[in-house]
Amino acid sequence: MKVLISHDEIIEMCKRVGQEITKDFKGKNPIIVCVLKGGAMFHSELIKHIDTDIVVDYIQVKSYAGKESTGEINFKKDMDTDIKDRDVVIVDDLVDSGRTFLALNSILLGRGARTIKFASMLDKPYKRKVPFELDYTGKVIEDLFVIGFGMDLDEKYRNLKDICVYEGE
Ligand code: IMP
Ligand code: MG
Repeated sequence: MKVLISHDEIIEMCKRVGQEITKDFKGKNPIIVCVLKGGAMFHSELIKHIDTDIVVDYIQVKSYAGKESTGEINFKKDMDTDIKDRDVVIVDDLVDSGRTFLALNSILLGRGARTIKFASMLDKPYKRKVPFELDYTGKVIEDLFVIGFGMDLDEKYRNLKDICVYEGE
């Protein structure tokens, strides 16, 4: 498996994004929401580098089957926290079409969140099918299918410690 971003580089990325979030939310009490399952490793590393009081929560939305985006989004697990009048930061592994985050934005605004920001470990901005821009980005990558550090291909490879390029079995 070809390594695209090494574990050490990922940790540095998490530190930088954590510092950016700290700067924006110092003294506030944001809810840092992980989008399961892909966002799990990035979220757990990222929160170590956020230096203010936070609340952690988890959601699971299904929007992907195999290597192609289906455009469908449904909640498999919802968060526990009431987000009314709260600052929310949504954390995921990768933004591609932007559909997942755009749909989440309108759902969470509908619940009365005060602010909603979006953080992603990776971004493929040229793949957008809907207008969406991230607030916090780990790294923009080329048009490659990536796996590892939480990211899967049909549930496999999430446990790889580096981000790798999937080149077939
Ligand atoms: P979208 O932005 O709504 O198209 O959905 C992006 C989601 O698709 C990500 O959170 C990943 O779960 C998945 N995804 C997109 N590209 C890749 C990839 O290269 N590797 C693994 N998962 C991907
Ligand atoms: Mg995902």
